[in-house]
Amino acid sequence: MAFKIKKGDRVKVLAGKDKGKVSVVEFLDTKSGKVVVKNINMAKKHVKAIEGVREGGIFEIELPMPISKVMLVCPKCAKPTRVGFRIEEKDGVLRKYRYCKKCNENIDLVYEKNKVKR
Ligand SMILES: [Zn+2]
Repeated sequence: MAFKIKKGDRVKVLAGKDKGKVSVVEFLDTKSGKVVVKNINMAKKHVKAIEGVREGGIFEIELPMPISKVMLVCPKCAKPTRVGFRIEEKDGVLRKYRYCKKCNENIDLVYEKNKVKR
């Protein structure tokens, strides 16, 4: 299954305490369909000290959030947009792209396949 959001994307947060902020996806969990976005959805986490291994303390970490809570900021038109997929065929090669539903530009290549000749 292809996800509309992936690591390295700039996204706008749609809900929660960081609503409206724009940041970068650091991690996509394909199992749960959640993303970790840099400096977004921060929570304090208490970490216990382990003698000789690490110091204890309170750390601020990003909590994963559902993909549906973020929207891609299109690298072409710089607007938050919904993402679509489309397949184009050229010279016997099928290419699947993510594209921006606002400006209709291809964002990046998802995969390419040689057409099977029958
Ligand atoms: Zn666009």
